[in-house]
Amino acid sequence: MSDPNELTVLNPATEETVATVPAASEEDVAAAVARAVRAQRTWAALAPADRARLLRRFADVVDAHTEELARLEVCEAGHTLGNARWEAGNARDLLLYAAGGAERLLGRQIPAPGGWDVTFHEPLGVVGVIAPWNFPMPIAAWGSFPALAAGNAVVLKPAEATPLTALRLAALALEAGLPEHLFQVLPGYGTTAGRALVDHPDVAKIVFTGSTRTGREVMERCARLVKPVTLELGGKSPNVVFADADLTAALDPFSFLDNCGQDCCARTRVLVQESVLDEARALLADALAAVVVGDPADEKTRMGPLISARQRERVRSYVPDDAPALRGSAPDGPGFWFPPTVLTAERPDSRAAREEIFGPVAVLLPFTDEQDAVRLANDTPYGLSGSVWTRDLGRALRVSQAVRAGNLSVNSHSSVRYWTPFGGFKQSGLGRELGPDALTAFTETKNVFISTEGPAQ
Ligand code: NAD
Repeated sequence: MSDPNELTVLNPATEETVATVPAASEEDVAAAVARAVRAQRTWAALAPADRARLLRRFADVVDAHTEELARLEVCEAGHTLGNARWEAGNARDLLLYAAGGAERLLGRQIPAPGGWDVTFHEPLGVVGVIAPWNFPMPIAAWGSFPALAAGNAVVLKPAEATPLTALRLAALALEAGLPEHLFQVLPGYGTTAGRALVDHPDVAKIVFTGSTRTGREVMERCARLVKPVTLELGGKSPNVVFADADLTAALDPFSFLDNCGQDCCARTRVLVQESVLDEARALLADALAAVVVGDPADEKTRMGPLISARQRERVRSYVPDDAPALRGSAPDGPGFWFPPTVLTAERPDSRAAREEIFGPVAVLLPFTDEQDAVRLANDTPYGLSGSVWTRDLGRALRVSQAVRAGNLSVNSHSSVRYWTPFGGFKQSGLGRELGPDALTAFTETKNVFISTEGPAQ
């Protein structure tokens, strides 16, 4: 039974307690929002260039603490050190990108009879960000930094298991000179602090990243207040591999093993053209056997543990011991380990082929031709990302247009870049983060008509 007033942060590689952190109550959320309302007024009154200068200073401070932030992410989330360093760098780069955006958040002048029409982008006020545990630092950054740059205050609720890097980012923001209470991090439980943030009338928008199930509830609660919401939800992304592809690159197991498979963009449905199925199996078997699973703080490790015992039970439920599969190896406990696995005899309508497992498990599914590949790729309620591998340019273009997903890559497994829009189709979400329109998503557009005809007589 968990203590409602406290969160215990475990190191998933050792099962040791890393920290205990107070859990915010509904009253704590209300007090934080009241402070944020005041801080936002001061912030929005600054010239955009002054906001940008402070955000660039924040980026410098994050940069100076890269190693510390990365090691904290390793401890609380089990990320490999290499990935965690990239994540701290991603937070820094997004701050710089958003700072530039603050200086270029321009309105328009629209020709109008009898006067001028001018549009403005006004900040929303206080933005609530709710983050999951799988990428604690980047997702805190993606939801919060463009919102700050657009002149808003942010109250961020990190996931129960992973509050530490977000708390540290908020402390670094203060060190960089951002106004007090502008960027507040409130660790707490979803059903207490999370709901209180969503329901608070002074929180003008919610950015939620997490499961589709919780996302539905968040959207329903936002609907009661007609509150805008961005939802970044689950995925079950296809990796479509045609026979003419560079098979070794296409079947890179880190397209579904990165972050121990706890990645919303993981290409967990490996769709392979029938004629190269045997070759694909052999390549995957070798690749899985070569994956170094173990201590995430060790520079040589490529895959760390799952986040929790509960998550490991969930993943296990999809992989019976006798299931036909290719398997790598994993250490014995302590630590929430699971071996890299590819299920090789699943039907496209099986539970493992349809549901988001959120562990290092993919399913291998054969297809016959282009039409069959597109049909299988789209046979999912999700639509977050995916890859298409072929040397035929026409086919690459046709398939990437036909697959219903927000982020596709051709001959690449790249998913998220801070300079391009990111988000899902279908039940993978609503709205977009990052990219050139990241800041406008945190503004209201106001149009003002100025009469040139003089005051009415
Ligand atoms: P989750 O839905 O259980 O929790 C996400 C966050 O919501 C946590 O902070 C939690 O405390 C909070 N929460 C829980 N109940 C709530 C409620 N009733 N009201 C308000 N907040 C509440 O998700 P998780 O298990 O932490 O994360 C894994 C999920 O996140 C996966 O489905 C994954 O695909 C998804 N995800 C999506 C993206 C994306 O960008 N599309 C990125 C990362 C993770």
